[in-house]
Amino acid sequence: MSRTSSAISPLDESFTATSHKGLTYKFGGVEPASGEVMTVAPGVRWVRLVVPGPLKHINCWLIDDDDGVALVDTGMNLPAAREAWKAVWRGPLAGTRVTQVIGTHFHPDHIGLAGWMCDHHAAPLVMTRGEWLTAKFIVADARDAVPDEVTAFRIGAGWSEEQIAEAAKSGWSGFRRIVTPMPMGYRRIKDGDEMTIGGTPWRIVTGSGHSPEHACLLNERDGLFVAGDQVLPRISPNVSLGATEPDADPLGEWLDSIAKLKQLPHDLLVLPGHGDPFHGLHARLDALDTEHRARLDELEIFLAEPRRAVDCFGRLFRRAIGQDMLGMATGEAMSHLRRLEIEGRARRETRDGVWWFAAA
Ligand SMILES: [Zn+2]
Repeated sequence: MSRTSSAISPLDESFTATSHKGLTYKFGGVEPASGEVMTVAPGVRWVRLVVPGPLKHINCWLIDDDDGVALVDTGMNLPAAREAWKAVWRGPLAGTRVTQVIGTHFHPDHIGLAGWMCDHHAAPLVMTRGEWLTAKFIVADARDAVPDEVTAFRIGAGWSEEQIAEAAKSGWSGFRRIVTPMPMGYRRIKDGDEMTIGGTPWRIVTGSGHSPEHACLLNERDGLFVAGDQVLPRISPNVSLGATEPDADPLGEWLDSIAKLKQLPHDLLVLPGHGDPFHGLHARLDALDTEHRARLDELEIFLAEPRRAVDCFGRLFRRAIGQDMLGMATGEAMSHLRRLEIEGRARRETRDGVWWFAAA
């Protein structure tokens, strides 16, 4: 996961357009309007909320529970999202209580309103420990100025002085503005746990690479998979290396997670964090895997000459990267370069604080 990218642009969106061959969209583009809910399977309903930037929306899922509904993901702490939820509770879900708020991962579009929702409904927050602790730590890190380690990371990646100065203007507390205060405590879930929601068994399946311990929910009986951002239909979830754990291997973890999810049944209806519900889980996982491996191969060739992370943007994203996307593009480029380094396919040399990668 990348603290760097979270601070610059809160959206965990992607740069890499991917093929989505082999997928079928169950509802053919029909989606719930703001303030509305849409049934996607017996006992499971869909709410869509706006988020700024190219992602445009986030999906939240309501699962019928004994005494109300369990909510998976909440949207970002923005007036428009809060208004949309109020319309839902005034309208289609009037009188319905949220029994628990389940956060798939710590990103603000997913848990931005978790504290607010828990407060309102006196509901517990349910997350994996890795996601919970990460969220709490970012909220608690209240300094205004960009930490020196982050600046060093940006220099290492090859940012110009102007780019560093421009990013410094937005400071370091962006996350706190779009996340409501989190509850003091939480209820822990972990990989393999079985939860019973409204009499229906759901199994927790975790993944890593986009975030540290991302929870997905599997209901094998009804063929449903609440995927969060672990699998998205049209975009490749951001996989970033950042200054908080600069020796990590997020792309390696991501590829392992893809292999793990391929053990799941192929015919599940996938309910993703962004985009439309789809069938074709394995086709999508294969496409994501192939794409990252192709990018690694291409990068390795490109590293015939020593390159910095910023030099690799054209190879990875096939589009110009502006200041707003610089943090995430850097995190993604670094996760690929780091993977090549770990595989022994690239070597890193540091000159004047700048990391130069060359094919081994
Ligand atoms: Zn997301």
